[in-house]
Amino acid sequence: MYDINPGRVLFGPGTLDAVSDEIRRLGAKRALVLSTPFQRADARKLAERLGPLAAGVFSEAAMHTPVAVTLDAMAAFEASGADCLVALGGGSTIGLGKAIAWRNDAPQIVVATTYAGSEVTPILGQTEDGIKTTVRDRKILPEVVIYDPTLTLELPVAMSITSGLNAIAHAVEGVYARDRNPVSSLMAVEGVRALRDALRVIVSEPDDLSARTEALYGSWLCGSVLGTVGMALHHKLCHTLGGSFDLPHAETHAIVLPHSVAYNAQAAAAELRPLADLFGGPIGEALHDFAGSLGAPLALRDLGLEESQLDLAADLAVENPYWNPRPVERDAVRALLQRAWEGARPA
Ligand code: NAD
Repeated sequence: MYDINPGRVLFGPGTLDAVSDEIRRLGAKRALVLSTPFQRADARKLAERLGPLAAGVFSEAAMHTPVAVTLDAMAAFEASGADCLVALGGGSTIGLGKAIAWRNDAPQIVVATTYAGSEVTPILGQTEDGIKTTVRDRKILPEVVIYDPTLTLELPVAMSITSGLNAIAHAVEGVYARDRNPVSSLMAVEGVRALRDALRVIVSEPDDLSARTEALYGSWLCGSVLGTVGMALHHKLCHTLGGSFDLPHAETHAIVLPHSVAYNAQAAAAELRPLADLFGGPIGEALHDFAGSLGAPLALRDLGLEESQLDLAADLAVENPYWNPRPVERDAVRALLQRAWEGARPA
């Protein structure tokens, strides 16, 4: 079974210029431009370029898509007379656009500026009362995605690395997903290959446009895998740590990934082999060393998580577990979290 997500993708330097045409192509007249406070100036610049096609800017997008922010944005959408959305940013801004579209079915154009991959998935994660829940719905999938690598030249190196590792995490869980198919596995391996090569350059040459282009290509592929197949223990752990302990999304993925893949390494050895070959060694250890060589954070304690919170994190992570190639055992998950907290090499 393979449900291919519909959607239109414009890829390449300069594609930001196409936003006006894409608004008209959707049959829309006025777009509310979304961003985080950090990218507010860029959102305003884009709105200026759109002229009468812009209904306004809402720049309060926040990590993990708090429902309260969505309700404010819905009010801004109504008040501005907008009939479509342009999300300019990473997963937080894209999440806000999806949250609005899920509620009012407004068409979405996404200009993706990180490697998180949310722009090509019909998935919305939102947070209310400290709990992150996930919905999957066709209305959530953006209609148009614009990948303009020039917009990623300013993505700080540290964020580029953690965001790229976040993308790799989608592909890693994609190769052993229960509902994988030959096409999703091809995209996963090629996506990881592209990000491996690109991140090695970006770490020292962040303004190398061809590496930036390759990283965005890899993140498109990895995001497409996330949008196609189910995720497993790794994503459950990161949702728990993000939703209930407010840890930052990409950094958490970057730290936990080597440990969660090591947890599944034997149970999914055949599926993981092409990825292990890309890194030239056992996948958990190899990803830990790769992340370390890029200067990525390696320890959950450095994100502010207390050791005393690990028991609760393990309890929450094994509640209603996602399907996983190896049975999800509470004590083994607690041990995994301990190593990730300390920044130790995966067992
Ligand atoms: P983010 O969107 O929170 O961005 C982090 C910061 O970087 C923000 O301040 C942002 O404005 C800034 N930024 C983004 N692009 C930039 C650029 N090119 N130059 C300079 N600054 C830039 O981070 P993220 O990791 O992309 O997204 C994380 C969120 O996305 C989480 O809430 C996560 O749950 C969600 N997510 C959802 C899916 C899905 O399919 N639903 C997939 C991946 C991530």
